[in-house]
Amino acid sequence: MMHPQKTVYWLQGGGCGGDTFSFLGSEFPDVIELFRRLNLQLLWHPSLSNSSPADHELLLSNILTGEQPLDILLVEGSVICGPAGTGMFDTKNGQPKKELIYNLAAQAGLVLAVGTCACFGGFGSDQVTEATGLQFARKERGGLLGVNYRSKNGQPVVNLAGCPCHHDVIVGALISAATEVAWELDEYQRPIEWFSTTVHQGCTRNEYHEYRVEESDFGEMGCLFFHMGCAGPLVPGPCNKLLWNQQSSKPRAGVPCFGCTDPDFPRATPFFQTPNIEGIPISLPMGVNRAHYMVYKGMAAAAAPEHLKKRTSKV
Ligand code: SF4
Repeated sequence: MMHPQKTVYWLQGGGCGGDTFSFLGSEFPDVIELFRRLNLQLLWHPSLSNSSPADHELLLSNILTGEQPLDILLVEGSVICGPAGTGMFDTKNGQPKKELIYNLAAQAGLVLAVGTCACFGGFGSDQVTEATGLQFARKERGGLLGVNYRSKNGQPVVNLAGCPCHHDVIVGALISAATEVAWELDEYQRPIEWFSTTVHQGCTRNEYHEYRVEESDFGEMGCLFFHMGCAGPLVPGPCNKLLWNQQSSKPRAGVPCFGCTDPDFPRATPFFQTPNIEGIPISLPMGVNRAHYMVYKGMAAAAAPEHLKKRTSKV
């Protein structure tokens, strides 16, 4: 049975376009098939639409007056509020884009923040750029729309975190929105469907982690937690359960996870070093007891099987 048609508008704020690039990597289904099967009408996407600037302005005006219904608003990139709260670092037709985002969100049935910048502010959340997320500024609730914001369907902003957000998460979110499946969200409004397990769960290097068989360089076979800054055990995210381009993930390829789904991303320390005191990581896997963990890791390293120590196991 065909779902009732829903309209979709995709807006880009302060971002690199990486979430669009990720979305276009969806294969099953591809983007065109997705919209067709879900009966979604794409009103506008900055990379996919070819209507004239005048037609686009008319469309925006009709959405803002309520003449054109807007069921799903996707925002990619952060809301730029600098300099000094004016928003003039990112404008449309001479007006701060933050005002457009605010007004579109007031008309939308549902708002999806696509990518960590739109969710939490991300890279631009410094004192100059003053970037914020739609309903969070890093870990603090509020953002552009405020704590109490609800879309016309009565829902808070749904945060599809990631830098970029995984293409299957964007597709899955659109499927849920089109079919009106209820969301269950975590404390940062990320759907628990994709953000209730860590990147570490599902990593093919888990056995190396267990026995503390560690690497100090990229592309090797062991675990990347103790020296290479892998944030896989520290952040929730779908990587390793959902593979990128149906093929791989950073840890699978020998590159540490840098924790891009976290509200505090990007962290202030280098991505590819493990902050430590006397060789002991400052941040340990979620929920573990430091003393127990270190004793266990010491014993596990001593008990590591030869095939792991000699790295004869492929990952
Ligand atoms: S490489 Fe990272 S994600 Fe994989 S097992 Fe080690 S710590 Fe976990």
